[in-house]
Amino acid sequence: MAERITPRNTNYSDWYIDIVTQAKLADYSPVKGSMVIRPRGYALWEKIQSNLDRMFKETGHVNAYFPLLIPQSYLQKEAEHVEGFAPELAVVTHGGGSELEEPLVIRPTSETIIWSMYKKWIQSYRDLPLLINQWANVLRWEKRTRLFLRTSEFLWQEGHTAHASSQEAEEETLRMLEVYKTFAEDYLALPVLTGVKSQSEKFAGAVNTYAIEALMQDKKALQAGTSHFLGQNFAKAFDVTYQTPEGTLDYVWASSWGVSTRLIGALIMAHSDDNGLVLPPRIAPTKAVIVPIFRNKNKDQVLTYARSVFAALQETLGNELNTVIIDEDDSNSPGWKFAEWEMVGVPVRIEIGPRDMENQKVVIVRRDTGEKEIVPAAEAAGRVQQLMEEIQSNLLQRARTFRDQNTFQASTYDEFKAYFNSDGGGGFVTAYWNGDPAVEARVKEETKATIRVLPFGNEETAQGNTCIFTGEPAKYAAVFAKAY
Ligand code: AMP
Repeated sequence: MAERITPRNTNYSDWYIDIVTQAKLADYSPVKGSMVIRPRGYALWEKIQSNLDRMFKETGHVNAYFPLLIPQSYLQKEAEHVEGFAPELAVVTHGGGSELEEPLVIRPTSETIIWSMYKKWIQSYRDLPLLINQWANVLRWEKRTRLFLRTSEFLWQEGHTAHASSQEAEEETLRMLEVYKTFAEDYLALPVLTGVKSQSEKFAGAVNTYAIEALMQDKKALQAGTSHFLGQNFAKAFDVTYQTPEGTLDYVWASSWGVSTRLIGALIMAHSDDNGLVLPPRIAPTKAVIVPIFRNKNKDQVLTYARSVFAALQETLGNELNTVIIDEDDSNSPGWKFAEWEMVGVPVRIEIGPRDMENQKVVIVRRDTGEKEIVPAAEAAGRVQQLMEEIQSNLLQRARTFRDQNTFQASTYDEFKAYFNSDGGGGFVTAYWNGDPAVEARVKEETKATIRVLPFGNEETAQGNTCIFTGEPAKYAAVFAKAY
């Protein structure tokens, strides 16, 4: 590795950017706030996509595609929606050399264009539920951007569902929150808190926003995905009604939900270390790399031996392009290659030298712990297969332990401030809150901590307790954190 990455303890933010750029996941584009996703980054997105897409289909959803450009007037049909998104809109005023009659906005999210179509497609209860997802890019004119975590243009999926009852739409909202949680934990090895957002943090146009929230290694929280119960807000804005079985007309109920390329940022910030990227095997595009160690005099024998191990590994792990790699390049030293493959986060490295060949052994090195083991060649594929599961669960466990060690309950406002102000402070801090948005705003102003979620069942916990900010009776047990 030519360059060294900044250690996490020196500057966490530089460390993150170093990993993204040196592992060649993304690069800056000429336009501020947008990024180029490079092949290694895009391979991660494809892994995220293919697994989520399967989970969406298993829960009854189908994919469709709606246009990038939306008439500006559509945004204005839902009052809260336009108020929330207006500052982030990019507007197209000219096309083909002349000024457009009506400006078009580049979608920041697609509720409006989709509900304008649902008006055409939904007449009766027989047309419901309608369970559509789209994979797309969106654009929000973000002021403070950071590769993957917050960019102006980003890739995501957005589910938009239409239902005949409030209860069905709410069930759908929570079902998809659960899909996100399962995906985050089982694939990204990212433990997440779930719950509802406070009204000030909800999606513009939603009745309620639910979220999955993860803790990064610098003890800041990241909203990793959201699922919104939209009530009848968009149905009313676009006049989408349906005939009930009883023959009456009612407005349609809705949900929408999305996760984005931010998940790649979450992966990096949750698991990686000072040597580079660390990837959970289920999401790693390359699961194992073989580095043969040879000199000119024994090159052919070592390579032949290493290739037989390579073939066995492909048989067990899959022979899709790059699932297993054998690095036969002889222009770089083995040490250089080790560092390089560590940087890009390949979960397991297999070193094979002349002595290993003589003994019919291989050396296996785990990326997550750096542990080495020597294994008979005949058992290598089986052992690597096992390690995939071990590394996957170790990463989840490690992240969960870290989160638990950085989860606190504050019983006074002073204590609360101390968690966030102390050097290296942060984490998830639960505090009783009276539910007043003005108090929430003051706490944000004074500490930079915001309410990440109101966990399920928190209102019962809060009963009989006192708001730590005002001394008034508490309504919620809210989870606060400084967040990205
Ligand atoms: P929203 O439609 O605002 O609920 O956004 C859905 C999800 O997209 C959020 O939960 C974030 O994970 C992600 N997201 C929102 N804004 C950005 C952004 N500027 N860059 C990357 N991801 C984003």
